[in-house]
Amino acid sequence: MNALQQRIAALIAAQGPMPIAEYMTLALHDPSGGYYATHDPLGAAGDFITAPEVSQMFGELIGLWMAQTWMDQGSPARPTLVELGPGRGTLMHDALRALKLVPAFRSQVQVVLVENSAVLEGAQKRTLSALDVPIRSVTGFADVKTEGPMYLVANEFFDVLPIRQYVKKGGGWFERMVGTNADGTLRFVLSPVPLPAPPPNRDGAPEGGVYEQCSAGEALADEIAHRIAAHGGAALIIDYGYDTPGFGETLQAMKRHGPAEVLSNPGENDLTAHVDFCALGDAAVRGGASVCGPMPQGAWLKSLGIEQRAEALSAHARSGALLLDADRIWRGVERLIADDQMGELFKAIAIVPKNAPTPPGF
Ligand code: SAH
Repeated sequence: MNALQQRIAALIAAQGPMPIAEYMTLALHDPSGGYYATHDPLGAAGDFITAPEVSQMFGELIGLWMAQTWMDQGSPARPTLVELGPGRGTLMHDALRALKLVPAFRSQVQVVLVENSAVLEGAQKRTLSALDVPIRSVTGFADVKTEGPMYLVANEFFDVLPIRQYVKKGGGWFERMVGTNADGTLRFVLSPVPLPAPPPNRDGAPEGGVYEQCSAGEALADEIAHRIAAHGGAALIIDYGYDTPGFGETLQAMKRHGPAEVLSNPGENDLTAHVDFCALGDAAVRGGASVCGPMPQGAWLKSLGIEQRAEALSAHARSGALLLDADRIWRGVERLIADDQMGELFKAIAIVPKNAPTPPGF
């Protein structure tokens, strides 16, 4: 049993079982043992790989998406680019390179990175510090200061926000919590007290059905929507998730590109849950903005022209002008857009001001 697990077991002994959200927060962000606080999880040698690490075209197309959205909105002054959970900074690096094609936008932008892991903030600085664009880092969205419109991107960020789970049993809904066995190992237990009212949009749930709620994600979508409704801009949220109310559980642990036990070795595995895009969209609408999508990632990237871009890049590669090889470029595209890879499970939504033009790809 690792040191963080011992501390969690001691907390449970003192205060009783804890909500899964509290367990996730400790396992992911505890300053001395939390997964993100102590690891760079990305890449082939890490635990998982994300779209910007698969292909440079992902970040490039997102940069151009932001510029096109800005132009369609009338090129408003003082745009701020915001990224939530930028990982190694790869997406922003590729976006800012592609934005050299749109100097009217790039020359005005300031960039704000929202990151609460010191390890990854260091990686972002190494990737981005030589660029000729003002870049600041903050630890939470509440600290993002904008003077004009905000163009925000969050890739594989909302899946890592803490969720609570409720299980339908005997007609009532009971919270699933984290408790301990006699030897101090962790196990799931059900709260004896049912929810006072059934959860939203879950009328058809079968016995044993699970409702996962991500209050942190809903609150954030609401705040982002408020900001965009008041000052303009757009937010692009890309993640794996579902677009109709789900009854299954999706909480999972990942280690070395494979599944791991959620309750074993906290701080050593990534913990995520699929994103409930209906709940995020509803929160953004409550926040006063409009929502486009969800669109499957594959269809979205294809309508932004990823295949044409890959064709151009691989022609370049074949001519010997690039270090990349053409096969690798096409393998990356396939991974991002194929239905049996990331193309269908991953989805994109955009949050825009009411009555704003529909952004590219939606
Ligand atoms: N967007 C990147 C990385 C995804 S991993 C990519 O696509 O490669 C999740 C990222 O979110 C990491 O950078 C992690 O440190 C950050 N993160 C997770 N929870 C966070 C929180 N509550 N506040 C700020 N950053 C967080």
